[in-house]
Amino acid sequence: MGIASICTRTLVGMNALKVSVEVHISNGLPGFSIVGLPEAAVRESKDRVRSAIINCNFEFPCRKITVNLAPADLPKAGSGFDLAIAIGILSASQQIDNQSTYEYEFIAELALSGQLRKVNGIIPTVIAVGKNKKRLITSKQCVDELTILANNNVLVANTLLDVCNHLNKKIMLGSVKHTFIKNSVNYKIDWSDVKSQLQAKKALEIAASGGHNLLMIGPPGSGKTMLSQRFITLLPLLSTEKALESAVIYSVNGYNQFDNKTFYHPPFRNPHHTSSPVALVGGGRPIKPGEISLAHNGVLFLDELAEFPRHVLETLREPLESGKIVISRAAQQAEFPANFQLIAAMNPCPCGYYNHQTLDCICSMEKIHRYRNKLSGPLLDRIDIHCHVDSILQDELIIPIDDNAKTSETIRESVSHTQQIQLQRQGKLNAHLPPRETETICQIKKEDIKYLSQALQTLHLSARSYHRMLRVARTIADMNESTVVCRKHIQHSLTFRQLV
Ligand SMILES: [Zn+2]
Repeated sequence: MGIASICTRTLVGMNALKVSVEVHISNGLPGFSIVGLPEAAVRESKDRVRSAIINCNFEFPCRKITVNLAPADLPKAGSGFDLAIAIGILSASQQIDNQSTYEYEFIAELALSGQLRKVNGIIPTVIAVGKNKKRLITSKQCVDELTILANNNVLVANTLLDVCNHLNKKIMLGSVKHTFIKNSVNYKIDWSDVKSQLQAKKALEIAASGGHNLLMIGPPGSGKTMLSQRFITLLPLLSTEKALESAVIYSVNGYNQFDNKTFYHPPFRNPHHTSSPVALVGGGRPIKPGEISLAHNGVLFLDELAEFPRHVLETLREPLESGKIVISRAAQQAEFPANFQLIAAMNPCPCGYYNHQTLDCICSMEKIHRYRNKLSGPLLDRIDIHCHVDSILQDELIIPIDDNAKTSETIRESVSHTQQIQLQRQGKLNAHLPPRETETICQIKKEDIKYLSQALQTLHLSARSYHRMLRVARTIADMNESTVVCRKHIQHSLTFRQLV
């Protein structure tokens, strides 16, 4: 009886590693076993493969079938092995042309009817298969994601029977054509929707221009969430390279909402405060990227920041600094990019009305202290801009929306211009300047040094927050197209550090 070896892929973090599916059909008591560290979904593939083969009018060999997934020490998870196992069995039992399978890799889940279903991580798989100089056969359900890739080494099929007909050279499968996606803006919300709140709007504009993290503190109903949701509309669209990077993360996560209308939009993620650390930073079996990686190249918005458990917030410290997250488990380790901009909002106290213009706060000082203590000093130090958002006065509410208010488009253009100044000068945004570079790039005039040292003493700024303050001042100077950081830029920047 026969033996066959078929190539497929398994995901480890962001990488699709090669797996050989070896199938041996021998005489002996009929049986079907899979070895090579298969996890639950892989073990269950036995039943799917058997039904799919029978329902596509092939014969399921009534002999001893052994499937080995090599390398044997790499844990295998997911349902993507189904197609390769089925092709292996049909090839070993000489129902399809054995030679024709060598030039392909196979990945898809099988339905009992023999239909091919979509699997997670198809984009990194296609990239890896291309490097291996082979072609990939997968499910037609992946077409939306595949059109964004500029290579034609992918063939798609509806059913197992279609794949076998192709291998037997009866009916050939079609390849996926690369579709050029238009780099267009498609937001349903706009910056001009928000009334008044000029101070908070300015703070958010600065944050967008320099890539700074920002925390808004204000009473309920002051428009914090509304402003944060519109923040994403101020950011320039992604480059094709960055958009593809984000698409790979979404593909690995299995987040099933690929939309080519929003392909170039920076991602906006808004996890709820009841999210677990695994949901936020990633993990699980197999290891999947979390919200911070889905927000890569975009914005992570944490509403009600003080309601997040402290241990969950602390997990953000390392990615905020390094722009990536390494997740280690006993069996494997994975690294995901997590270069996101953090926008957070919180109430000033548990009841929400501390220092309110008209309403009284009912919280004790101890309660307020405990509430704010949930945010550790090191975490707050990583947030460059802290700003107050006051509640909207009734008079302001009645005023109709100003037609001359700045729209997202106008601000996006100036943000893009300010970002270009930074990229040309130092190759990165001001928020990403390391301490040494900060001091050379954000040099202060001699006459302002004394003023600054007095301010530092009064505000008790740590070394880290001093550098953050300098970076924000540099961004304000860039927004005003000033080559030097002047006292007025420092003064403006210091107003964002006095809170909490
Ligand atoms: Zn209160």
